[in-house]
Amino acid sequence: MRIAFDLDDTLIPSDPAVPREPPTLLARCTAGERLRHGAVGLLRSIRTLGGEVWIYTTSFRSPLEIRWLFLSYGVWLRGVVNQYRHQRTLTGRLAAYRSCSKYPPAFGIDLLVDDSEGVAIEGRRHDFRVLRVDRRTRCGSSASRRKCGNTWGNDAAGLLAGGAVVSLLIY
Ligand SMILES: [Mg+2]
Repeated sequence: MRIAFDLDDTLIPSDPAVPREPPTLLARCTAGERLRHGAVGLLRSIRTLGGEVWIYTTSFRSPLEIRWLFLSYGVWLRGVVNQYRHQRTLTGRLAAYRSCSKYPPAFGIDLLVDDSEGVAIEGRRHDFRVLRVDRRTRCGSSASRRKCGNTWGNDAAGLLAGGAVVSLLIY
């Protein structure tokens, strides 16, 4: 299962009230940004379950910069899609999707985790799966667990990974 994460306000919080991962020495020395608390454990558990971790961002950060940020926390990314790659890819037969801010099927991505309501709407409109992280909702409630869990479908790996994502949301 290929799972992509948005960066801003999903894995990289802008709200100073959101707890961050304690930086490794490498991250402290070289990384300009901090990951949300729980992100490292989540991404590693997805890899342990056999999933691929990707980043899909509308920002123009370079793939090298993004890879290094996660590597400094000990997380290997299988793929990175930034705005340049998104624009380069959505041509030809995919040109019809250029109006989408993100189009995960173009990269074989099974699930996108993102805070944007707009991306979630695009997912419903163009039939791709989005697990929306809502910063305003405390996702620790049983109702929100059910809601998050249901997004993953019925395959065992998906449900297990869904549980891992839900654990990210409890902070
Ligand atoms: Mg975002």
